[in-house]
Amino acid sequence: MIELFIARKKSRHIQLDFLMFTTFAELVLGLIRLWMVLSATTTGNINLYEEPFISTLVRWFGVSFTVLSYVSILGFWAERVSSENKKNIEDNIRVNELLLEREALITNLLKANKTTATGALSASIAHELNQPLGASNLNIQFLRMKLDKGLLSSDIGKEVLDALEFDNNRAATIVRSLRSLFTEGESRAQEHDLAYLISSVLDIVKPELNARQIQIQLRVEEGLLIEVSSSEIEQVILNLLNNAIQSLASIKASLRTIVIEAYRDGNSVHFSICDNGSGVSTQFRQSLFELLNTTKKSGMGLGLWLCKHIVTRYGGVIWYEDAPGGGAQFHFKLPIAG
Ligand code: ADP
Repeated sequence: MIELFIARKKSRHIQLDFLMFTTFAELVLGLIRLWMVLSATTTGNINLYEEPFISTLVRWFGVSFTVLSYVSILGFWAERVSSENKKNIEDNIRVNELLLEREALITNLLKANKTTATGALSASIAHELNQPLGASNLNIQFLRMKLDKGLLSSDIGKEVLDALEFDNNRAATIVRSLRSLFTEGESRAQEHDLAYLISSVLDIVKPELNARQIQIQLRVEEGLLIEVSSSEIEQVILNLLNNAIQSLASIKASLRTIVIEAYRDGNSVHFSICDNGSGVSTQFRQSLFELLNTTKKSGMGLGLWLCKHIVTRYGGVIWYEDAPGGGAQFHFKLPIAG
């Protein structure tokens, strides 16, 4: 009864109140019966077969209250289990809602990061697009002039058409690469050749590399298939390349180099990008992949965090190493497809 008293103080329950009552009734009935049996016994031996009727009745009442006690204990536990279950279900729903919210936030971050990453390159991309468009315009004018004068030979015609086709392809390649980066619907994983994804990103970044006189060394194996969303892995490569380009700003133009490697490593595809820029300081290294960590004035500290999120989502790993000759070297590994 003391235990019950303490339990009731902690939480008020109708079952506990009832259990208190039945336990108290059992105690009273037990005491009554003890008194009856003792007062009916004259010899000093208690004979249960000759128990008076009224004492037997009290005994059965006692048993009934014991049964009721067990019923209330069961009721108490059943109610607790069901309320715990209800709480668990509510918690699960809340956790799912939070996970969905997190996914939506990450999707928005991915979009924001794509816009920022390409925004930084927009001047060089516009310049690169302008060049073939300007050249095409000149070629068209030249063709028209020759036609008007009736001087168009088949050799000249073919030459001008080839130039037009070349310029058209150059512009189309950049637009295609940009479109593939911004594709919305293609977030589900499909088999892609890593070499193709790297060259798509290079198409976007090439004007910037040329403008900053950065040498690119490519050692990429063909046929490295990974099962990913192309736009997401392109975004990872673009972020790493952009960081490498920015880190080379303080290096003498003639020395600026970025090395990109990709090869098969057991059941994984290994990608690495190495620059000979400033590298990452020892203190900053621990928190390199954390959100909102940046050393740049206009940086957001989003890029590397997103890279890690995307790579781990596909069962891969991403890490940093100091480049052999100074500078930074970022690596990621992804499972090979198939
Ligand atoms: P942000 O570029 O907006 O700063 P990131 O997450 O892409 O965000 O990068 C975080 C930080 O990591 C950068 O501010 C920079 O200090 C460091 N970092 C990333 N890549 C390189 C690199 N290739 N060389 C030197 N530092 C780098």
